[in-house]
Amino acid sequence: MKFIDTHIHLQDYKTRYTTDILAAAAAAGVEKFVCCGTSPADWDNVAELYRRFPEKIIPAFGLHPWHINRAEDDWPEKLENLLQAYPQALVGECGLDRHKNPDEEPQTEIFRRQTALAVKYNRPLIIHAVKSQMFFEHLWPELPPRFVFHSFAGSVDFLRQIIRKGGYVSFSFSIRRQKTADELIKEVPLPRLLLESDGPYQSPEPESETRPEDLPGLAAFIAARRPETETELLKKLYQNSEEFIHVGK
Ligand SMILES: [Zn+2]
Repeated sequence: MKFIDTHIHLQDYKTRYTTDILAAAAAAGVEKFVCCGTSPADWDNVAELYRRFPEKIIPAFGLHPWHINRAEDDWPEKLENLLQAYPQALVGECGLDRHKNPDEEPQTEIFRRQTALAVKYNRPLIIHAVKSQMFFEHLWPELPPRFVFHSFAGSVDFLRQIIRKGGYVSFSFSIRRQKTADELIKEVPLPRLLLESDGPYQSPEPESETRPEDLPGLAAFIAARRPETETELLKKLYQNSEEFIHVGK
């Protein structure tokens, strides 16, 4: 079976070389990766990974709400230049996080700059959202046609809202720690479901880095809570991922 890891930060691994990660993942069927940048400090690393492994890496560039203080004022121009230079790039990881940063401003403004670029260049948007459901009330109309709430761990109510607004929902290994996992997993309509490692983060074991070659195990965990057979689910997850990352549609 083939897999696409729809969210990873390959540039952040400390314990393994990228070539080793990619080889182990390939042996497990994980053949492509959406590699997400989180601030201007790592955008060049993401671009370089794409240049080294163009068959495997889909680059994504964004300013994560945890890093908004690290970005110089010219970040929107830099981001726009990258989207022009890499026509296959997605926008993200970006979003709203009220847990780490209780103030709505300026993170909303920064997020809106990125949604506007995603709309302007017709790119899918990768959203990080923590305790921020109410912030989205005014933002839904500004999102591009394709967007995903990644590593979803919110409420069933928020999940339903995302689906109604046309979004995708992606689960990472963190779903296995979620009390409401069964309910959340069942709630996503099959065509809107995606899978990700969010590596090196969200590791099931403390102090270790999440391995994308473990994605088939996560898929099995999800399949056990879904009405479809595992084969059906895996086929559709791959197809969903291809549809989500495809730019120019
Ligand atoms: Zn991430």
